[in-house]
Amino acid sequence: MRPIACVTGWPVEHSRSPLIHRFWLARYGVEGDYVARPVSPDEAADFYGSFAASGFVGANVTLPHKETAYAAAHRRMAAAERLGAANTLWLEKGELVADNTDAVGFLASLDSAAPGWAEGAERALVLGAGGATRAVLDALIERGIEKVDLLNRTEKRAHELVEFFAPRAAGRLVPGPLEAAEKVLPRADLIVNATSAGLHGAAPLAIAWKKAKPTALATDLTYVPLMTPFLAGASEAGLATVDGLGMLLHQAVPGFERWFGVVPKVDEELRRHVLADLARAVP
Ligand code: NAP
Repeated sequence: MRPIACVTGWPVEHSRSPLIHRFWLARYGVEGDYVARPVSPDEAADFYGSFAASGFVGANVTLPHKETAYAAAHRRMAAAERLGAANTLWLEKGELVADNTDAVGFLASLDSAAPGWAEGAERALVLGAGGATRAVLDALIERGIEKVDLLNRTEKRAHELVEFFAPRAAGRLVPGPLEAAEKVLPRADLIVNATSAGLHGAAPLAIAWKKAKPTALATDLTYVPLMTPFLAGASEAGLATVDGLGMLLHQAVPGFERWFGVVPKVDEELRRHVLADLARAVP
């Protein structure tokens, strides 16, 4: 039987995962498919709990089921274990295995777009304290960044995240309110926007880019539009930038390899393919 994998979530129609995986299936001539499978909150525990009976060889998991899928797994890879959430699932001898590839996707994106970015990088500034920030913090801790200023509009959430990571990174994460950005910006070697500010017509973050180190690297997780106001501001101030599309593409690699047995390549052709679709999207 040809292998079929899927992206699961609620809603799931917006996901670009089918676009990415079908591109690779065609490129590598794999007889398989990748589809969107909406999973309602009511059916989530049952669906992931009996995944072996679903007929799929594996799945990606998006909001709001990353914790449910994690809980349903028989075995968890270290990255999933660290985050308590899964975004990639596959079966081994009928048992469900869970991984989380967001952090490796984030790092692979920076490594390929800005090789050597971490050399000599001591301090990072991360804006936002939502789900995506967890993966970013995990990545920065793993990569050995010494200090991270973690600022969020709702400051309490930044403190909660620092507490979550305290066993692994005591003293390395410094929480604060978004208003502290101007003060800590001059010492940041990496500046990450992991907020959804600026989406759906809301005002983008106001960043005093002139105060940033000219050698700092700025990256935005948001990729619609690709050139966000955050990246445009950084670029105007002369900083190097990395857009959010790379993370989306790179986080997809480990799943494709598990399900279809080929390590797929993230390259310009794939980027162009996805960008053509993004061009049709309303931010
Ligand atoms: P989330 O859990 O909903 O968190 C949203 C974050 O944005 C929170 O910290 C929130 O602050 C902050 N925020 C929202 N509106 C704001 C505003 N007007 N001003 C300041 N802060 C604001 O979302 P998420 O899952 O972490 O995703 C965040 C962004 O990353 C989204 O744009 C998402 O599309 C993108 N993303 C990209 C990738 C990728 O592969 N490139 C992967 C995951 C996510 P409060 O806590 O105060 O509400």
